[in-house]
Amino acid sequence: MTTPHLPGQPQLAYQGDELFMEQVRLSDLAKEYGTPLFVYSKACMLSALNAYQQGFSGREVQICYAMKANPALGVIAVFAQAGCGFDVVSGGELARVLAAGGRADKVIFSGVGKTRCEMRQALAARIACFNVESEEELEVLNEVALSMGVRAPISLRVNPNVDPKTHPYISTGLKSSKFGVAHERVLPVYQRAAALPGIEVVGIDCHIGSQITQEGPYLDMVDRMLDMVEAIEKCGVHIHHIDFGGGLGIDYNGETPPDATQLWKKLLHKLDARGFGARRLLVEPGRSLVGNAGVCVSEVLYLKPGEHKSFCIIDAAMNDLPRPAMYQAYHQIVPLRCPNRDADATWEVVGPVCESGDWIGHDRALDVNPGDLLAVLSAGAYCMSMASNYNSRGRAAEVLVDHHQSHLIRRRESIADQMRQEMPAPESAGSAAT
Ligand SMILES: *Cc1c(COP(=O)(O)O)cnc(C)c1O
Repeated sequence: MTTPHLPGQPQLAYQGDELFMEQVRLSDLAKEYGTPLFVYSKACMLSALNAYQQGFSGREVQICYAMKANPALGVIAVFAQAGCGFDVVSGGELARVLAAGGRADKVIFSGVGKTRCEMRQALAARIACFNVESEEELEVLNEVALSMGVRAPISLRVNPNVDPKTHPYISTGLKSSKFGVAHERVLPVYQRAAALPGIEVVGIDCHIGSQITQEGPYLDMVDRMLDMVEAIEKCGVHIHHIDFGGGLGIDYNGETPPDATQLWKKLLHKLDARGFGARRLLVEPGRSLVGNAGVCVSEVLYLKPGEHKSFCIIDAAMNDLPRPAMYQAYHQIVPLRCPNRDADATWEVVGPVCESGDWIGHDRALDVNPGDLLAVLSAGAYCMSMASNYNSRGRAAEVLVDHHQSHLIRRRESIADQMRQEMPAPESAGSAAT
């Protein structure tokens, strides 16, 4: 049969008729750790990071992995060891970076709802920059910093309002979005920031959306950002670094997003042409660093052929892989053992959760039997990080593959783990038997 499309190649490939991640047979991991099981390729993560590093070579740049895509300590450690910084969106994520050996001075802190407590935590750790998303947040951060006797380094996250008609994939850089400071407020807010004693302006930041597969939005965004930097600096406020955010898409189902190396070479050309070639740069990639490095291995539990639709019920569900239910997202699903004939049936691939929204793939041509193992591909980003305990299902285990070795980086969550934080309510007075 024709080999299925495998986003994540060459680290993910059939050797003979068995699917391998690097030099590790995925069915061996399923046997050892059970299913559902997330497996990540270290080489794939590092090669994705390298695409950014190549694009920026010779420049002063800090790549900050947007770790909400996959916050496993074992994943953070890979990026920290490669010199990566981190874009965090909560105090919890900051704590994870520090626990995994990441450096606080390479951390930037994004998000529209930072609490005073999180601000104190980040100031105490001496992170590199707060990406401030509103005027009120700026005032609160100033107060918190002054109360600690320090100055908070900040960027304003600006909203470049990239035209949605030409670039429909943009979802966070629009005027109507909850993110960032509106274009027309940028100058007065920078002037205010420069005047606040607890604030030190260090940069400017934006992030226009996710799973962007065209270069058009990026090129527009860069022009708008540079226009803003010029205007801000005319007002006497110096911008040390420019942060272009994340958002570069990946191949889930044959998409062809720009290659990071080529994209950033093009963007740097624009910066050079406008005299910003020597400026310190930041980027915040998430999905494009980890998305295609991961798969979720799952076992077929039951087949339920029907007149209209046939269901293939697997042991991974929407609590493990929330993207199809949440965004109607597509993940490629392939067998761990490449069948020697073409599939003669199509299946609705679904999980065991008691909800019709619990589907993983529609109308998939698969030659399957109960007990077979499947891999849900491109599952390295926004899967485990969004996993829940819905239906009291324990979260899956995670394994990091490195050449021929594999390391368990998170053990499977047990029901005892799940119940640990809970306590039974006391019986109400008078209801006890006499
Ligand atoms: C989520 C997020 C990112 C990363 O987005 P990807 O699409 O995963 O690259 C970067 N910056 C901010 C502020 C984010 O919220």
